[in-house]
Amino acid sequence: SVFDRMDAVEDRVKAYLTVEKESALAQAARVDEKLAAGEELPPLAGIPVAVKDNICTKGVRTTCASKILENFVPPYNATVVERLKEQDFVMTGKVNLDEFAMGGSCENSAFQKTANPHDLARVPGGSSGGSAAAVAAGEAILSLGSDTGGSIRQPSSFCGLVGLKPTYGAVSRYGLVAFASSLDQIGPLGRSVEDVAMLYRAICGRDPMDATSAALPQAAASWDLEGGVRGLRIGLPWEYFGEGVEEPVKAAVYRAVEELKKAGAEVKEISLGSADYAVSAYYIISSAEASSNLARFDGVKYGYRAPNCEGLTELYERTRSEGFGAEVKRRIMLGTFVLSSGYYDAYYKRAKRLRQRIMGEYEDAFADCDVVITPTAPSTAYKLGERVGDILKMYAGDICTVTVNIAGLPALSVPCGKDENNLPIGMQLIGPKFSEGRLFQTAHTWE
Ligand code: GLN
Repeated sequence: SVFDRMDAVEDRVKAYLTVEKESALAQAARVDEKLAAGEELPPLAGIPVAVKDNICTKGVRTTCASKILENFVPPYNATVVERLKEQDFVMTGKVNLDEFAMGGSCENSAFQKTANPHDLARVPGGSSGGSAAAVAAGEAILSLGSDTGGSIRQPSSFCGLVGLKPTYGAVSRYGLVAFASSLDQIGPLGRSVEDVAMLYRAICGRDPMDATSAALPQAAASWDLEGGVRGLRIGLPWEYFGEGVEEPVKAAVYRAVEELKKAGAEVKEISLGSADYAVSAYYIISSAEASSNLARFDGVKYGYRAPNCEGLTELYERTRSEGFGAEVKRRIMLGTFVLSSGYYDAYYKRAKRLRQRIMGEYEDAFADCDVVITPTAPSTAYKLGERVGDILKMYAGDICTVTVNIAGLPALSVPCGKDENNLPIGMQLIGPKFSEGRLFQTAHTWE
């Protein structure tokens, strides 16, 4: 049925960069055989999952939506893909993103612009826009995305889905093409909290191939979705309900919080004072790390190589000039700038100090509340092309999501209403490290 949906809508949605129909149907047939033989199957057996195209898949092109990796075929699977294979999942294909996951609308892809299935004239969000659009259009049942500063949660919000950015270290990053290593996490997107929780359970846990992955405390991978919210202490940071946030978004989140209150939660206003500086700190830290991570794309080891070069310097220059898109170049330049001697103290070091402060603020907040709730994004999905020339407006769209990555916390985006154009609105639930279960339970109560 997901391939029938692709036949019907994919030429307009454009979520996929690579469709794996043949191998998917063969895998589905294998699962059918096992079922017919009476075998007991794991929860994700036979479930069609789309994979963001910055997650390595053995033998299947992994482009990062960049010309520089247009023909890159990884010789190995990311750990998350291996774990899903163990469950006999069905991979439908690889889905679109902003080049190297840099962006918030999917418009930075070198190959195509993905549309929002709720309104084809609008963006699906980003960078995991293909992951969100594929599920929202019925072209996959679940998907994997990655989130460095909001890239799972914001597209989930724009496309009316549930999306989880896990605790830093909860999911292995092995095989995820690095953007900003101290912020990146892979996570699930789906139509319901239950679906997302199931996919999360399949991919989480310690992996010897990723030194930053954590052995999860037992409680971190078990939860009771029906547990309710009686006595749960919810904090609403007033800074996240300010001027920049559209009225219908605020109203929908407040309404959802009211419902949680009726279900027995306690609600209090709190303050996360560094919110004003968070976007600046995020773009300094993430670009610094990106400039270092992307140094490996030099025309020698992977992917595109500019033809007919004389000497190594020309090879580097032309490969990178021709292979990277404008936004990626902007981040590399910004990153090398803030790391250069003379500017390091003024920018990078100060951003790191802000990072400490943001972490401290969350720690204080979680001393007297269990879950912090904010809008996921200040607006609903905007029109394709509307923000393309306005970089700062684009970056400002990340205001609600970036502190979560900076502090390494888990956060879940759940649909909580529609605006006047019938576009989905998302609310963000943030918890202390490894509190994914609590977030699922709270969101399921609202659902
Ligand atoms: N929109 C943010 C950025 O452009 C977040 C991207 C992400 O989470 N990968 O960096």
